Amino acid sequence: MGMVIAIDGPGGAGKSTVSHGLATRLGYAYVDTGAMYRVIGLLAAERGIAVEDEDALAALCDATQIDFVDRGDRSGVEVAGRDLSAAIRTAEAAQLASRYSTVPAVRACLVAKQRAIGAAGNVVMEGRDIGTVVFPDALLKVFLDAAPPERARRRATELGGGSGDEVERMARDIAERDQRDRTRTHSPLRPADDAVHLDTTTMPVDEVIATLRTMVQQQLDSLASAS
Ligand code: C5P
Repeated sequence: MGMVIAIDGPGGAGKSTVSHGLATRLGYAYVDTGAMYRVIGLLAAERGIAVEDEDALAALCDATQIDFVDRGDRSGVEVAGRDLSAAIRTAEAAQLASRYSTVPAVRACLVAKQRAIGAAGNVVMEGRDIGTVVFPDALLKVFLDAAPPERARRRATELGGGSGDEVERMARDIAERDQRDRTRTHSPLRPADDAVHLDTTTMPVDEVIATLRTMVQQQLDSLASAS
């Protein structure tokens, strides 16, 4: 079992940028679990599998090997040699991920894949349920958040548009996904009881990464002194 740093929080809170930067500095692997839910959502929609068809979704997920390909500052994803990195980044793919991620069989399948990655080595893993469900014994659990208008602005910029209309559309999209993610029955988005809360609304990325790096080091030091 490797060291696991669990980073959870809603969309646009800065999880991907911070997690990737932290992983690079620590020399750990980086895993974006949202990308895994986006891949399954996209493939399920492509094949016309309904959200209610749990057996077909379980079979699809079991048969899908998701490969992360490091492309510099953000990971790409491939399935059977098909590059899905751009396709999973659309607002539609985000909504599909949010809908299909409510299905228990999809969650069970992806959680198993995520635990296998954590068993193989040190990792910074970001998502919604990493500290609460996937790795409840993670070395460090972080809950990143930011004010909703700032989260909408970041997501709109990420998707290449920063106009008022686009930010407004993104704010609605994020609010809808937040509501679904926080109220679903299985593994809802919530901070673990022992998670460190960080509000990134006005914090520069480098400062967030440096703060977390110090916390990781403190956890490693206390592990070393306890053994
Ligand atoms: O993080 P990202 O915006 O890419 O996640 C897309 C969707 O995937 C989320 O809105 C959420 O519904 C789902 N997800 C999840 N559990 C995770 C990661 C993502 O349910 N660990």
